[in-house]
Amino acid sequence: MTDKIQIAVRVRPFNDREQGEDNIIFMDGGKCSIKDPKSGGIKNFHFDKCIWSHDSAGRTLETNEHVFESLGKELLENVYAGYNASIFAYGQTGSGKSYSIEGYPPDSGLLQRICEAIFERKSQLESQDENNSVTVNVSYLEIYNEKLKDLLDPTEKQLKVFVTKKTGVSVRNLSTAYSDSYEDIVSLLADGKKLRIVASTNMNKTSSRSHAVFTLHYMEKSMKDGKKQIIRSKINIVDLAGSERQASTGATGQRLKEGSNINKSLTYLGVVIQKLGENCKGSKNFIPYRNSQLTHLLSESLGGNSKTIMIAALSPAALNYDETLSTLRFAQNVS
Ligand code: ADP
Repeated sequence: MTDKIQIAVRVRPFNDREQGEDNIIFMDGGKCSIKDPKSGGIKNFHFDKCIWSHDSAGRTLETNEHVFESLGKELLENVYAGYNASIFAYGQTGSGKSYSIEGYPPDSGLLQRICEAIFERKSQLESQDENNSVTVNVSYLEIYNEKLKDLLDPTEKQLKVFVTKKTGVSVRNLSTAYSDSYEDIVSLLADGKKLRIVASTNMNKTSSRSHAVFTLHYMEKSMKDGKKQIIRSKINIVDLAGSERQASTGATGQRLKEGSNINKSLTYLGVVIQKLGENCKGSKNFIPYRNSQLTHLLSESLGGNSKTIMIAALSPAALNYDETLSTLRFAQNVS
């Protein structure tokens, strides 16, 4: 495990559908265990962080503030130093991905806490010296069936990921919007979400059938030792499609095609992160970024000096044993 890639697992409280179900997740420090409800067998996994959201009486133990303090702050230090970062939430629909990333009032998520910290830094730096400035631009896109769509601009246009030595990874025709506050970001996100592809599956009323990548482009101009310095970095916040396998979603036809594309990009994402992790320990793997749009787009934010946080979201209930085990295996493989 490298500190460039932090893998956290987080279990959410039981939901209404799961009332009366047995708890099958146990956590102890960095150890997360899952009990097979049929055989009673226990499988153990180890992660950088295991986050338990509730106790047996359903009381909240670790909130999103804890997630930000233990994962988000370090990531921001890297961003302020000019390195790129990516944050993913992985798991089946309804497992708590949005809760961690976007939050549910009053427990604001990682995205809000990160934005607030950035805008606080902006006002601090800008009030210290009139030559200082922080600029935040955002872009928001969707990857659906391996096609890209601009979520900030509904007009039909062809988006394409390309890489140049000078500017790194960019997306041709993707719009960016300047933002001055977290409120600006909330309204951009809300507009963008209306354009996202969602569909009904057996797992949940609506589940995301696409991956959405929200990117904050950070630029800081400041005076250091009498000299002007410019820092540029990006934070990609990736809302992955639900990882549920087709068997449990009852998918056929178009849904099935989507499902196989979703699983393909999730698999390639796992492969890329795993190989990067091995390279950090001395291996010299070729990294197959170009196998999927998602990994191609994120290539410069996953390798090099960038920081990646993956939150694997888990249900505690026996009912979801198969999906939860598959999430734990995915998270273990990439760590
Ligand atoms: P996903 O984005 O994976 O589909 P959500 O984040 O929408 O799932 O979570 C599904 C439900 O579980 C929501 O009602 C949410 O409020 C609840 N939930 C998820 N994680 C937590 C948590 N850590 N603490 C309390 N409730 C949670």
